[in-house]
Amino acid sequence: MPNGVHNFEYLLNGDFYKNYFPETEIINANIKLNIEVEREENFMIAGFNFSGYFELPCDRCLQPCMVSINGKNTLFFKSESNNTEETNIDIDIIIVDKNVESIDMAEFIYEFSMLLIPQKRVHGKNHYSNSECNQKMLNLIEKYSQSESIEHRWDALLSVKSN
Ligand SMILES: [Zn+2]
Repeated sequence: MPNGVHNFEYLLNGDFYKNYFPETEIINANIKLNIEVEREENFMIAGFNFSGYFELPCDRCLQPCMVSINGKNTLFFKSESNNTEETNIDIDIIIVDKNVESIDMAEFIYEFSMLLIPQKRVHGKNHYSNSECNQKMLNLIEKYSQSESIEHRWDALLSVKSN
């Protein structure tokens, strides 16, 4: 890549995430990613701009739930040189070997995406302000969480042992 500013546009779908990171909890994705790269002789700045949504398991009913993803992140890449002057900037600086020709961005893309997922993801409400959670699943979850707790089962085991 020649020096200067370069723009890249990607559409990230569920397959991107599942192929690179099989253990991901992302069920589906529709993310527009713009990467603006500024390349100079000994360093490179990459600005990531995400917009779109993920489908993730809902915290309440465990069914797929749309979560909007919007945000930016910046990465600094520095070519490896022998002087180890410390930079005091509060950003990620990746040291790259001078001989490296290309950098695999997939891991950074994944990491940044994960940071953009809100802590709480639950289904919203419909026009009638009813929750869009899967009521059948909620009933099931409630049914099983009301059944004997694990502690009770342990108590039963222990009492058998002491007899
Ligand atoms: Zn739900």
